[in-house]
Amino acid sequence: MSLDANEAELIRTFVRQLTTKYDRRYWLECTSQGKALDELWRELGRAGYLGVTVPEQYGGSGLSMSRLTILVEELANHGLPTFFIVISTAMGSVAIAKHGTEEQKRRYLTTMADGSEKFCFAITEPDAGSNSFRVRTLARRDGDNYVINGQKVFISGVDQADHMLLVARTTPADQVKDKREGMSLFIVDTKAAGLTMHRMDTRVVMPEGQFEVFFEDVRIPRGNLVGEEGKGLKAIFDALNPERISASAMATGVGRYALGKAVEYAKIRTVFNTPIGAHQGLAHPMAVAKTRLELASLMAHKAAEIFDEGGDAGMYANMAKYAAAEAAIDAVDIAMQVHGGSGFTGETDIITLWPIARLLRTAPVSREMILSYIAQHVLGLPRSY
Ligand SMILES: Cc1cc2nc3c(=O)[nH]c(=O)nc-3n(C[C@H](O)[C@H](O)[C@H](O)COP(=O)(O)OP(=O)(O)OC[C@H]3O[C@@H](n4cnc5c(N)ncnc54)[C@H](O)[C@@H]3O)c2cc1C
Repeated sequence: MSLDANEAELIRTFVRQLTTKYDRRYWLECTSQGKALDELWRELGRAGYLGVTVPEQYGGSGLSMSRLTILVEELANHGLPTFFIVISTAMGSVAIAKHGTEEQKRRYLTTMADGSEKFCFAITEPDAGSNSFRVRTLARRDGDNYVINGQKVFISGVDQADHMLLVARTTPADQVKDKREGMSLFIVDTKAAGLTMHRMDTRVVMPEGQFEVFFEDVRIPRGNLVGEEGKGLKAIFDALNPERISASAMATGVGRYALGKAVEYAKIRTVFNTPIGAHQGLAHPMAVAKTRLELASLMAHKAAEIFDEGGDAGMYANMAKYAAAEAAIDAVDIAMQVHGGSGFTGETDIITLWPIARLLRTAPVSREMILSYIAQHVLGLPRSY
């Protein structure tokens, strides 16, 4: 459902007020201590904002990507990006709302909506990479259970999450005719026996770190399968557009935050006889960055609107993700240039934005995968892989 301007403004006003209490300093403190943004998360949940992607009967306010896009964007506009809002509130809620059983919806959507529980998402494996069909983590049926063995990498926030949305094979790739068959989606308790995790040495400045996760005979009830066994791709694909749209909103927000700081600095820093913002060598790239950010943001909101109307948001979501990541990189880059040497100090908090902006070109889906999607599915060019 598309939003009227009043409702959009209400969400933005709420977030703006919240960020006076939970500001960038709070975010940096949590991040440096490896601590979850618990207080902020709880307040968002209490106020009903984590339920924007949860249908009303499960404690939310309806499955609305338009509302979520505004929420994610406004948080990031104030320097408060979080992976969980993309992974849990966008992907987790949508996958379960669209493909979960009644029992799963009652159990998990309600706690996601009130902020008391969070999901992480695990698809990436060392040998599969962007080719997700090659995942080898295997979930084998054993009576009323599944027994899971395998390994995932780069799993964000698994230490802070209550549950994991796991992509595993229920039939190994070499035993299916079509590589898309035999993949399934599961809900796994992150404290399950046999599940271990090791923090990876990633240097992205975010409150959620990345982990290698090992599954050694992890036993989960059969009722934790989301959707049909062997046909998990449908559930995963349905959650990809929400993931891309919310990642776009995060990117444009990060870009705006960086650019806002650059503008303030450019107005006061004077090294010759006028503030540096008067020099077109800096002013024009800032103007270009602002233009690119707003164009990307429009595309993300358009994608959200089409998703909410039940249309095919694929083209818009992919283009938004591409444009937003590139715009965020440009914005942080010019913000660093404007700050000169100070851009590299912790004090100005500009260099801290570079890894997240740059990451968004690579994850949650890489620039090349996005462009291949557009080339193949929008332009109708022959497949490359
Ligand atoms: C900070 C961080 C957080 C992450 N969080 C999560 C998470 O929570 N859950 C999760 O499951 N994963 C997560 N990931 C993994 C992330 O989604 C992957 O790193 C990303 O999708 C790229 O996969 P890869 O690293 O295996 O690269 P590869 O697939 O090995 O690709 C390497 C490069 O080759 C390019 N490439 C590959 N194939 C082609 C082709 N056919 N044509 C053109 N170019 C190609 C890619 O675009 C990329 O640039 C995270 C990663 C990072 C760094």
